[in-house]
Order: sequence, then structure tokens, then C-alpha cells
Amino acid sequence: MGTKPSGPLRLLRETHEDRVLTALRNQGPLTRAQLADRTSLSRATLSSIVQTLLAKQAVTEAGLEDAAEVRGRGRPVSVLTLNPAGGLAVGMDLGHRRIQVTVANVAHEIVASDGIACAERTPWTQRVKLAVDLVDELTNRYEISLTSLAGLGVGIVGPVPSDRAGVVRDSLAARFGVPVFVDNNTRLAALAEATWGAGAGMGSVLYLRLSYGVGGGLVLGGRLLAGAGGAAGELGHISVDRDGPRCSCGGRGCLELHLSNLLDEYGGFDNLTPDAIADVATRTGEVLAAACNTVNPELVVIGGELTGVALLRPLRRALRDYTHTQVHHSLRVKPAELGYDAAARGGIALVLTNPPEEAEWRRTSCS
Ligand SMILES: [Zn+2]
Repeated sequence: MGTKPSGPLRLLRETHEDRVLTALRNQGPLTRAQLADRTSLSRATLSSIVQTLLAKQAVTEAGLEDAAEVRGRGRPVSVLTLNPAGGLAVGMDLGHRRIQVTVANVAHEIVASDGIACAERTPWTQRVKLAVDLVDELTNRYEISLTSLAGLGVGIVGPVPSDRAGVVRDSLAARFGVPVFVDNNTRLAALAEATWGAGAGMGSVLYLRLSYGVGGGLVLGGRLLAGAGGAAGELGHISVDRDGPRCSCGGRGCLELHLSNLLDEYGGFDNLTPDAIADVATRTGEVLAAACNTVNPELVVIGGELTGVALLRPLRRALRDYTHTQVHHSLRVKPAELGYDAAARGGIALVLTNPPEEAEWRRTSCS
């Protein structure tokens, strides 16, 4: 807010402008109706605020003609975005075997994206160097200037906060001189699915990745929920067998361990029998049902190797059987839509969903 004394009406107007700008920054292109819904402003107030923001060139309007053609009649619909010239965000995924870099502007347009393979044992300092080289290469190839860089969002393997996260954050902050946000790459994939993928435009999304590890993330109100220790949405470590073997997390019979034992027994995802897949689906459905009853999301997104009908049908059945009617009534289940660059995109969304004034606080408090 402004430092000069100002009347209550002006303050209210600035608050309304902030709400509109935040919604567009977090969620990308929105129609006026969607904006009214996200900001809880009346149509009349919103219209006046948008007019001001358009005049200031903070916001741009697009899609008038296309939308009118699609609808064919009535008033044409346009979408509003932040001015693409308002800044860039870089997303990185430092994965087990692959490094991905994606660049987007504040209007959520992807302006560059590429990835390279890296050996599994590559040290973290070396991974950071490879990612920085890839940023340099992409900015040269697409003639992108990083003078208006808002921040970097980086996905890493393993828990955050951690020593590894600290090394990655500090070296990238020193190199680029902007706020750097680091989070687990499966959690960032969750945020990306809620921003660009299967859950685009939805406010509450629960994501679960069934792979050689099982991880997840919870996006509420467009923001990735961290929880007290950064582990909110760790659905892989909910027990599906109370007498099962000990898990490395300290629990017993965790979903991740159960799936991992099955994969060892069958020799990988490709060899799982329909019965084994149904078993995983039912246990996963029970875990998800408990989580859905807790947070009542609009959508469950399933990522990883197992997303076909063989999984989704019994999983939906278990969800129907074990969720409250009110929770189930509004719940949808979809496979993940994003590919290799999901976590890097999530890094971009992490930058954009952290307001600039909070950036310093988030950066220093995450060690
Ligand atoms: Zn566990």
C-alpha cells in the first residue's frame, strides 16, 4: 500500500486492484465472470477496476474476436491477463535423470522450454550448473532478456526444507539476484496441474503421483499447501496395511511401500496383472477418500505410470464407496495432463503465487 496518507475510498480501490492483479498472477487468463468469482467483487466494481488497470497497462485484454466467433451470438467474451511485459519467471526441475528449464511471463505464456538428460549420480552443485547453462542457452536461442525476472522456482528430489534445498537456493539466488523458491518436484507437479493442466481454473486440487515413489500435493485457493513442516499432501505415507512392514518414513505398511513391494514382485509397471492394479487402485482410493473427506477438493489428479482405465475404474469405485456423499457429489478424478515440464511449470507457478512483497520472507524462512 502507498505510504502517503490517503482516503478510505482510495485505499479500498487499491485493495480491489490488488485482488484483481493477484487473481490474474496466480491463475493466468480469466474472463470477467471468472474474475468476479475469484475476487468476490461485484460486476460494476470489477468493471471499473479493470478499466483502470487496462488504462495503466497493468492488464491486457485478448481473445475478443475468437471468443465471439465461438459463441456466434450475444456479447463477445474476452479474457484478461497481466501485461506479458510485466515480468518473467523461470522454472527448473532438477530430477533424478533429467534437468528441465521452462520460462514464462506473468500472463502465464510459456516463452521457452527445454530439457537435458543427466546421470543419476550427478552431484547437486553440478545439476545447478547444468540448469544455469540451459537457462543461458535458452535466453540466447529465443533472445530473452532476464532484466525483468521476478524469480526462480526450482523442483528437487526429496524433502524440503533440507540441506540440498539450501545449496540449490543459495547458489541460484547468488547467480540471478532474484528470489528463489525451492520445493519437492512432485509437489510442484501438483501445482502445475492445478494451474496449467487437468485442474486449470479450479480452486482446490489434490494430486497423487503413483510411480516408483508415491508423492502428492494439495493446492487450495490456487496455492500449494506446505503445512508446518513442508510435507502437506504426502499421501504415499498413509498406511494401507497396519500390520505391514516398516517404512523408511517411520510408519508401517505405507501406500508407497506397498506399491514398491508389488513392483519388485512383478518386475515393474508393465508386468502388473489386472488383479494387482485393482489392489493398488482400491488401496489408493481408500487413502484418497480419507484425504477428500478432509479437504473436499474439486478434483483428484492421478499422475505417474498407472493412469489407464484399469486403475481409474476401481479407484473411482473406492472413492465413491468411502467418501461422504457431499464430498463425492462435487468430486472429479482425472489423469494428469502435463508431461516432462510439469515440475518446472510448477516452479513458475510457485514464483507467481508468492506476491513480491512476501518473497523475501519466504526465501529466508524456508531454510
Ligand atoms: Zn512411509
